[in-house]
Amino acid sequence: MSEHIVVAKFGGTSVADAAQLRKISTIIRSNPERRFIVVSAPGKRFPEDIKVTDLLLTCYEKAIAGQSFEAELEQIRLRFREIIEGLKMVFPLNDEIRILEQSLLTDPQRDYTASRGEYLTARIMAQYLGFTFVDPAWCICFDEDGHLNSVMTSRTMRASLLPLNHAVIAGFYGADMTGRIHTFERGGSDITGSLAACAINADLYENWTDVSGLYAADPSIVENPETVEHMSYRELRTLSYMGASVLHSDAVLSASEMDIPINIRNTNRPGDAGTTIMRHLPSGVAKNPVTGVSGRKGMTVVQIEKVMVSDGSGFSALMLDILKERSLPFEYCLTGIDSITLVIRSSLLDSCKEDLFAEIRSTLNPDFIGVRENLSLIAVTGEKATESSNANIRVLERLTEEGIELITINQGAGKLNLLIGVPEDRYEDAIRAIYAYRQSHSHAG
Ligand code: ASP
Repeated sequence: MSEHIVVAKFGGTSVADAAQLRKISTIIRSNPERRFIVVSAPGKRFPEDIKVTDLLLTCYEKAIAGQSFEAELEQIRLRFREIIEGLKMVFPLNDEIRILEQSLLTDPQRDYTASRGEYLTARIMAQYLGFTFVDPAWCICFDEDGHLNSVMTSRTMRASLLPLNHAVIAGFYGADMTGRIHTFERGGSDITGSLAACAINADLYENWTDVSGLYAADPSIVENPETVEHMSYRELRTLSYMGASVLHSDAVLSASEMDIPINIRNTNRPGDAGTTIMRHLPSGVAKNPVTGVSGRKGMTVVQIEKVMVSDGSGFSALMLDILKERSLPFEYCLTGIDSITLVIRSSLLDSCKEDLFAEIRSTLNPDFIGVRENLSLIAVTGEKATESSNANIRVLERLTEEGIELITINQGAGKLNLLIGVPEDRYEDAIRAIYAYRQSHSHAG
């Protein structure tokens, strides 16, 4: 058997019905290195459809409210019946549904209920493929307060998976020492995949979804944006943080710690190479100075002025302490000679603005506090930018040529790594202008 090990995770749309499961079986069987398969629960088949996890959660809500959940339970049964019949399988579905129904009637538990979509999908897939079924309740270890115990999980998963040739693992959940089921956040099957890949030190973590990778810009703003072939973990974290999300951020973090490449692939277009995310980009990849651009609206800039802020008297540290004590996160903080600039999400600032400014005035005695609202923050990353491309300057030039005001600019050290504050009503124009600059280099080779 090949030494190369691939963990392949299939998301909700990839397991949405029997036709999708047949597609993923072909994908899995086409490469014997795909030894460990992680599945989500069936997701949406069409835009108005309801995810099985949402149906399960409604059952739970109704159960604890003492209402009937029969209609939702029946929809869940029908989703799985279509799968089993479509795959021409014999599977004890009615027994499984009865167990779930009993638990809801006697001792409804939110996480246990929510996890049943992944549990059933994994059992069905394991049987269909002839792989071993791995219940993560045996090997993904939570503390009783619902936090993942990563050290124990890594050890237990490794011991459970490595002896197996091929296995299907249910995504999204694990259990504590008492056997109680705990789920991750929504979208958490990505984390299961990443944990499995890390535990066995896989050579590759494939994440199969319904897009052929990460777009270089938001497709709702730019028509038919290119997908990025390669990017670094850092670039993915930056672009995802700013809204371009295809993968759960915790999954990226653990894969990056172990330096396991992640390949985002499209179940409906398996021939597409997708996006590969790794620590060091391979030599010979296209040298486009801009990897991608994303952003968020709804930001406020706060400017605190005081003569010689940067004289080492700890003004900035005191300012950050005030934010920390209030658990008020900020997007970034720039310290100048006579001022500090903070960018904060308006939704977080609005409720505490007056109090916060009063505290800053009394503690720091600033010369002036200025506020500018209705700002968007745009992230531009480009680890492939060469020094000669002057990409940071060119990006800013493009924006000024479009007449877009640059309210704040934060240029991180290293390659292209810009955070730019622009007026919210020019957000889309700014994204298009930066994407157009990227495309002017898209055949740069
Ligand atoms: N089924 C869960 C959800 O809908 C987890 C996942 O799909 O990753 O959020």
